[in-house]
Amino acid sequence: MPLAYPFDQVPGTSEVLEIVPGVKWVRSPLPISLNHINCYLLQEGDAWCIVDTGMNSALAREQWQAILQIVAGEQNKGAPRITRIIGTHHHPDHIGLAGWLCDEYRAPLFMSEREYLFMRTYSQPKLRTDYWETQQFFTRTGMSEASCKELFAHDDFTHMVSDPPTAYHRLRNGMSLQIGEHRWQVITTRGHAPEHVSLYCEALQLLLAGDQVLPKITPNLNVGPTDPDDDPLAYWFDGHQKLRDRVPDSVLVLPSHQRPFYGLHARIEAIIRHHHERLDAIVALIEAPLSVQQITRQLFDRELNVFQNFLAVGEVLAHLRYLENLGFVERKQVADTWQFQRTPYYTPFLVQMN
Ligand SMILES: [Zn+2]
Repeated sequence: MPLAYPFDQVPGTSEVLEIVPGVKWVRSPLPISLNHINCYLLQEGDAWCIVDTGMNSALAREQWQAILQIVAGEQNKGAPRITRIIGTHHHPDHIGLAGWLCDEYRAPLFMSEREYLFMRTYSQPKLRTDYWETQQFFTRTGMSEASCKELFAHDDFTHMVSDPPTAYHRLRNGMSLQIGEHRWQVITTRGHAPEHVSLYCEALQLLLAGDQVLPKITPNLNVGPTDPDDDPLAYWFDGHQKLRDRVPDSVLVLPSHQRPFYGLHARIEAIIRHHHERLDAIVALIEAPLSVQQITRQLFDRELNVFQNFLAVGEVLAHLRYLENLGFVERKQVADTWQFQRTPYYTPFLVQMN
């Protein structure tokens, strides 16, 4: 099925749009270039389950209060009630207000184990960003010392996330969750995050896709200093295969950014193709050896700020790691920096049709 967007409108500030009866769509503001996140409300009796929360800010908190008054008012009930908060994954735009909402409305938090533990870990005030192996990692990518220093100076996670709840309820791959009148199947995938949760409801033909399937952009896949041997792109491909096998093309996809859409399988194909193109484009640059930072500069022909460059370097390294594990590129360490070069075994992912 080709991509189609059934909603012409998007929810405005403190506005609630109905997807189907019992499922509502709201938007929370983000102070970054991607200026919004979609959050969804699932009805459970006279109360609501919230899927993803937005980032921690006074504006976003006020907006939730207004939204919850609206949905409570529609049911002619008194104070708004939340049954639970579901976090698709630990990134600040998704769970930034989970702690605040859980506390304020005495609602339990539901997340997968790895995502919950990552949220707890990154919220630690004692987390060290200047650890020697972290510094060594960035040096190996070829990142400049000035960029590293600027990265270390920031600890944005704790600012973007309210204090996490110290209890959670574990979501596991394959489990089925009764939310109000419907059952939702938990599907976990890895690549963008370590145990990302999507929720599929067969009866409603809806897929709450988080960041796993977005209609027009792809989320960051990052090899970073915490897990420098990771191969997130391999997991990412596996995850999309799993989703395609388990969720029919007929569903309406409710993504975390941009608009709900039909065409799940076509979008999955396009995402895989995008990464295959990227892999080929990277190999084309490394007839002679280059560092990750040099490849990144050639691949992104625009100025990137320090944080954007960190994400870009991590994503390029993710692609290089995938190629390295297939034997298509080889990595050598020259002085303190990794140098990558193609090998004779490389075969293009996409055959060029002329
Ligand atoms: Zn994310």
